Amino acid sequence: MSNKTITILDSTLRDGAQGEGISFSVQDKLHIVEALDNLGVAFIEAGNPGSNPKDLEFFQQAEKLKLKTAKLAAFGATRRKGIAAAEDINLRSLLAAETETVVIFGKAWDFQVTEILRATLEENIAMIRDTAAFLRAEGRTVIFDSEHFFDGWFANPDYTRQTLQAAIEGGASALVLCDTKGGTMPLPLLEAVREIRKEFGNIVGIHTHDDTGLAAANSLMAVEGGASHVQGTFIGFGERTGNANLSTIIADLELKMGYKCLPDGKLTELTPTAQRIAEIANLNLFEGMPYVGRNAFAHKAGMHIDAVTKNADAYEHVPPESVGNARVFLMSEVAGRSMIIEKIRKFKPEITKDDPLAAEIVARVKEMEHAGYQFEGADGSFELLVRKTIGKYQPFFKLHYYRMVEEPPTEANPISSIAQLKIEVDGLIEITAGEGDGPVHALDTALRKALERFYPAVGTIQLTDFKVRVLDSKSATAAKVRVLIESTDGTHQWTTVGVSPDVIHASWIALVDSFEYKLIKDVEKRYQMYL
Ligand SMILES: [Zn+2]
Repeated sequence: MSNKTITILDSTLRDGAQGEGISFSVQDKLHIVEALDNLGVAFIEAGNPGSNPKDLEFFQQAEKLKLKTAKLAAFGATRRKGIAAAEDINLRSLLAAETETVVIFGKAWDFQVTEILRATLEENIAMIRDTAAFLRAEGRTVIFDSEHFFDGWFANPDYTRQTLQAAIEGGASALVLCDTKGGTMPLPLLEAVREIRKEFGNIVGIHTHDDTGLAAANSLMAVEGGASHVQGTFIGFGERTGNANLSTIIADLELKMGYKCLPDGKLTELTPTAQRIAEIANLNLFEGMPYVGRNAFAHKAGMHIDAVTKNADAYEHVPPESVGNARVFLMSEVAGRSMIIEKIRKFKPEITKDDPLAAEIVARVKEMEHAGYQFEGADGSFELLVRKTIGKYQPFFKLHYYRMVEEPPTEANPISSIAQLKIEVDGLIEITAGEGDGPVHALDTALRKALERFYPAVGTIQLTDFKVRVLDSKSATAAKVRVLIESTDGTHQWTTVGVSPDVIHASWIALVDSFEYKLIKDVEKRYQMYL
């Protein structure tokens, strides 16, 4: 291994599971393992099978996954005080996970040993040595997580050094220095890592927490100081303020520092992997997250957009494609005309900057934003607005009426909404009704039924997300509601928006946009020569 290779250990399933609101089923865990293996991290740390039956079941199922790159590692403490390693139930259960690699954590800070563990300093050293030796004798590769390493090192370096020495004597093949409380500053951390690297060789790892907002910086510092193994959670969640964010660190190491963390060509999977893990964890990926967030390559102010469309280097530190992300232009009242022109060119390649149509669209966007619309992220509705202004739009149906009946759901009848509607297509009338748990669901069902006869393609549309925001909450009775609907047809995704004082009407506008967007795209595909 070249010294420019960094071993990545992901602890999303173990440290990450300590995060507020995180709870993984066995199935969730298996999906995360698949996502991380596909990306190509070296190790996936996955808890202790002895701690609960769910973890044991996980290890049994995980064995069937046939991982391509990643190795699973079970995680547990050193043996308890006063007994032999072979007698420790927790250690035996670590073996039951049948992973080639086992991560054990032991105390490196004398204060923790005497005050928390209430063991003698000698006993703690023996616990570390015995545990590593026991696992080695059972054929396991042992990674030693040195808990509270930095606190120990700054308080009593001699003792901390002895704990590492004990792990090595027991047969550990990596010493991972943990900033367990997350309070260490980068420069003292760098000095400490350098020292350990010098004394123990190329077997040093780093595990940081983000309590001072420095987990990523500290991880990079450690690599600078000679660490070749980095631990963290993939999108940074974990107890308190979270763990070192691996999606940030991997990109920094590969793109900025010339290290290799993933197999060739895999860095472009970084953003999809982050999105997938957020989805499994049922979290919204923080939009401002470096490299992988939705806004990581978003441009808003008019002048920026003007410059970026001329030359991306002007405002982007790396190309978004390098990490599998995409450039996004956010609409706003200050939106530059050049960005809108760029979008219009998709339908009208010959349009110029001074075309009066461009000015008309800019004015229309401003007017609608004033009324409460927001086209940031509502690409579907924005495209329809452009098409309507430049005359590349035809309505697909005419609405005569829709009616809603709302009932409080009961246990016997969980259906709370019924929608009834009448539409017309080419002089033909269709009247349908639909039920749903909520007005959008009911309207969707009814509209889909009505349109399917004329446009079978609507059957492929699925609503994947639905957000309601109350605008102008100061005057609650006059408040408007903005509804965002996310849809997919299995291949493409689009988002549409509706605004109205009435939530059902706002939903209707967004829903109609969603269906029309899909139909217009299908027509476009069929008449590509014309468009
Ligand atoms: Zn930790």
